Amino acid sequence: MPPAPQCPCSSGLRYRQCCAPYHRGEAEPPDAEHLMRSRYSAFALREVAYLWKTLHPDHPDRARPEAEALRELRASAAAHQYPGLVVMDRQAPDASGVARVLFFAKVFERGKDRSFVERSDFRHDGTGWRYVSGVGKLPRELPVPPESLTLATFPK
Ligand SMILES: [Zn+2]
Repeated sequence: MPPAPQCPCSSGLRYRQCCAPYHRGEAEPPDAEHLMRSRYSAFALREVAYLWKTLHPDHPDRARPEAEALRELRASAAAHQYPGLVVMDRQAPDASGVARVLFFAKVFERGKDRSFVERSDFRHDGTGWRYVSGVGKLPRELPVPPESLTLATFPK
């Protein structure tokens, strides 16, 4: 039997022991970082229903027709490769319930490097952690290599 595949979220764990239970709806990620990781691996594995489910009701895409949003997510996920993720920093929920994660998502499109750094905001909606919004930067817009950024040094 071949070894079970590694999880695309770069945790170093096997997929079945990492993001699979989240994608299958058997568990909710315990915090914003795990939710973020499971969304990256959902892009890699084209789990678009999960990407839709984990958008917070306040995310602007939630105002769109679901079928249309799913079609676009499917096309986008299929057109890209997701070779790895680096989570540089995270912040526990503040007084208003917003948790933050800073990450470097490696993404390629037909050999072109589309990797980006994002500071994402998440909120718990009563069921689980959900993605609210994010501020993205390209590596060339950053003062230091992506992996050495922190939430404090992320450009305003
Ligand atoms: Zn994972």
